[in-house]
Amino acid sequence: MTQANPASDTPSQGLDGEATPTDRDVLAWTHTARFLTTASELHHLPATELPEIAFVGRSNAGKSTAINTLAQQKRLAFASKTPGRTQHINLFELGPKDAPDALFADLPGYGYAAVNKSAKQRWQKVMADYLDVRRSLSGVVLMVDSRLGLTDLDRQLLEFVAARVATGEVRLLVLLTKADKLNRKEADAALRAAQELLGELATEHSDVSISLFSALKKSGVADAAHVLYEWARVAPVVAQVPDSVLAGAPTNAASDAAPDAHS
Ligand code: GDP
Repeated sequence: MTQANPASDTPSQGLDGEATPTDRDVLAWTHTARFLTTASELHHLPATELPEIAFVGRSNAGKSTAINTLAQQKRLAFASKTPGRTQHINLFELGPKDAPDALFADLPGYGYAAVNKSAKQRWQKVMADYLDVRRSLSGVVLMVDSRLGLTDLDRQLLEFVAARVATGEVRLLVLLTKADKLNRKEADAALRAAQELLGELATEHSDVSISLFSALKKSGVADAAHVLYEWARVAPVVAQVPDSVLAGAPTNAASDAAPDAHS
C-alpha cells in the first residue's frame, strides 16, 4: 500500500521512454470531464470498454466537492444532487470529445440518516451489484471524512469490492477529505488509522493508496489526479483464460480501446 505519488511539475522520462505527466497534464485531463448519462439501475448503464473509475462515500463526505475540484468545474457533480438523481449512478466522460478515454461514475452517497429502510436496501443492492459485476470498473475512489475515518458503512462497501481489489483488477484510492480541518498531528493519525484498516485489503497484486485531500486548500488534488490518470492508462487486469479458449478468438476490443495501455 502506498501514499499517493508525490506530484511534480517537471516532466521526466519514465522507464518505458514515455514522458511522465506533469500536474498540468493530469489536471488538464480531469478538466475534460463532462456529463454523459444517468441511470437508476445497473442494466441501464451503457456497456463500455472505457476504463471506469467510481467515486463512492458517505453522504456529506465531500464527494461532489472533490469531483468538482478534480475537474476544476463548479457544478459538474451537483447534477448528482438534483432531486430525483441522488439515488442514481451518474457517468462523466473524459478525454478528447472524439476519442474519450475514461469514465467517472459518481455513485449514490450512503448513510444519510433520513433515508428509509427500503431505500437503504435498494442502495445496498445497486452498489453491491455495480462493484461486483461492472466489467469496465478499473478503480474506486472512496471519499472518507478525515475527521471520522472509515466507518462501518465504508467497510461494508469495501467488502463488496474486496475480491476484485485483491486480484488487482480494481484499484483503490482512499481520499481523506476536508484535511484542512486537521492539524499536522491529527492528519498523521488519520492516515495511520486508515492505513491500518486498509492493510487488510492489501495483497501481492492489489493497488491501494491513501491520500489527504482538501478541496478548500486544493491540497492532494494533483496527487489524486495523477493516480486516476495512471489508472485510466494501465492495461486492465483480466482473469486468466486458458489458451485453448483464446485460440481463434476475436481480438479483445478492450485492448484496442485503451490508448497508451502498456501491454
Ligand atoms: P457529498 O454529500 O459527499 O457530495 O458532500 P459535499 O461535497 O456536498 O460536501 C459536504 C460538505 O462538506 C459541504 O458543506 C462542503 O462545503 C464541505 N466540504 C467539502 N469539501 C471540503 C473541504 O475540502 N474542506 C472543508 N472545510 N469543507 C469541505
